[in-house]
Amino acid sequence: MVGLEVLRTRLLTNQRETHKSIADLGGNIDAIVSARQDSNNDDEHDPEGSTLAFERSQSEALLRAAEQRLRDIDAALARMTAGTYGICVVCKKPIARERLEARPSAETCIACAG
Ligand SMILES: [Zn+2]
Repeated sequence: MVGLEVLRTRLLTNQRETHKSIADLGGNIDAIVSARQDSNNDDEHDPEGSTLAFERSQSEALLRAAEQRLRDIDAALARMTAGTYGICVVCKKPIARERLEARPSAETCIACAG
């Protein structure tokens, strides 16, 4: 069984990595946007234009997922500070330690997550 400090360290590491992926994905999207502006404007008939549009929507989906992950991590760290970490936000029962080890940002127990 791992202690709370270990879980906090994991959350902080995840937070750092997630910040970095958000910055990277934002950079990707900017690069795609300017690549589209540089290429000719006839997107519909330009195969490169539709590839860029696809890449952009992929990057935007990844960015949204990373932003959601960051919100979950920030909320978990705030619960640690508040002393409510590890308590299900729905039923107020303790979350199984194995679940927290597998997913330190979990805010509900397995029963409430379903
Ligand atoms: Zn619950």
